[in-house]
Amino acid sequence: MPISPGFSHRLYPHLPAIAAHFGTPFHIYDEVGIRETGRQLQQAFAAIPSFHEYYAVKALPNPSVLKIMQDMGFGFDCSSITELLLVRDIGADGDAIMFTSNNTSAEDFLAAEANGGCILNLDDISLIDKVPHMPELICFRYNPGPRRSGNDIIGKPEEAKYGVSHEQIVEAYRRARARGAKRFGLHTMLASNELNYTYMVRTAAMLLELAESIGRELDIPFTFLNIGGGLGIPYTPDARPLDIVAMGKEITALFAGFQQRQGYSPALYMESGRYMTGPHGVLVTRAINRKEIYRTYIGVDACMNSLMRPALYGAYHHIEVLGKQEGPGLETVDVVGSLCENNDKFAIQRHLPRVTDGDLLIIQDTGAHGLAMGFNYNGKLRPKELLLRRDGSVALIRREETPEDYFATLRFEDKVLRL
Ligand SMILES: *Cc1c(COP(=O)(O)O)cnc(C)c1O
Repeated sequence: MPISPGFSHRLYPHLPAIAAHFGTPFHIYDEVGIRETGRQLQQAFAAIPSFHEYYAVKALPNPSVLKIMQDMGFGFDCSSITELLLVRDIGADGDAIMFTSNNTSAEDFLAAEANGGCILNLDDISLIDKVPHMPELICFRYNPGPRRSGNDIIGKPEEAKYGVSHEQIVEAYRRARARGAKRFGLHTMLASNELNYTYMVRTAAMLLELAESIGRELDIPFTFLNIGGGLGIPYTPDARPLDIVAMGKEITALFAGFQQRQGYSPALYMESGRYMTGPHGVLVTRAINRKEIYRTYIGVDACMNSLMRPALYGAYHHIEVLGKQEGPGLETVDVVGSLCENNDKFAIQRHLPRVTDGDLLIIQDTGAHGLAMGFNYNGKLRPKELLLRRDGSVALIRREETPEDYFATLRFEDKVLRL
């Protein structure tokens, strides 16, 4: 999707100076845009008691961005020990952290319990006996199996490795209560990049219904329902944004109905990653080569280790060329990196204004699952991250990797097991 007009007005006039000062390539994130989206999310669900967003840390695990989330009152959804360390390091603790792990290890549980703990979201019934200390508040991730069709990206629930099955879910709460749990949450995550808001409404309806039926069987109220992440953003120019206002209205009505029938309302939690930051980041890279063989290739100074989505999912990321308008005279090119993989392409057979060496290309919607998915294959080093701050200044918030970083794991004391 073409970058939001606000972001481009804030960024583009200064981009040559930013690129000259910091060097390319880099991801740059827009604080104003992130805060606007955060406000819209809060407003859409303002009528539900204790609505709370737990930002999915894996989407953009940079402390400077996480601090913006914290400042907006959001918590964090973590699924690894390192993510726990990251959010605790900026001062998050207790109920501000939700730990949603899969195939959880003993070390994971110890880390989740440490430093005042967090909200534990258990992924399987067998884990109830493996939690070292059953916390007072416990949540289970629910997998509805064939009761729901998954969306295109995440696939069918019955083939997914996540969550507690429908047949096990009541027993899971019964056992957790027997081990000492007193308050309960219910979680699911069924979609990824879903633009149709009604899918999320159906997920909320499903959880509310399930909470009622578990509540009936075990006589337990639910402290919260967590509908997960998976809210989509429009990557392609013709995609329509998710209607967050309609989603908020319809889910609010469902919660009001529950309140009437049950005499109480659980809180609504959400774990959006992509929706919060995806559109508010771009990858800026410079054209360094133009190659004309069977196709025309625009070689840029970033490669797929900075943004895997096109190679991994065939994902579309809109590209603009700074200072060059779309219009007549477009040419059809592949935009490529330098990695020894033919799928190291940011765009395939894309219509772009004529690019010459030195042009700046703005690859859009990289604010979630962008650099975070980066890797070092082929000895490729990950680029830096910048933040366009509210006051208009630009700050380095992660430096680029150096060969020293790449070699750091090769420096250690000799360790040999003689057999
Ligand atoms: C990945 C993930 C999210 C965030 O997904 P988005 O598509 O970025 O919103 C939320 N919750 C869980 C459990 C996840 O694995």
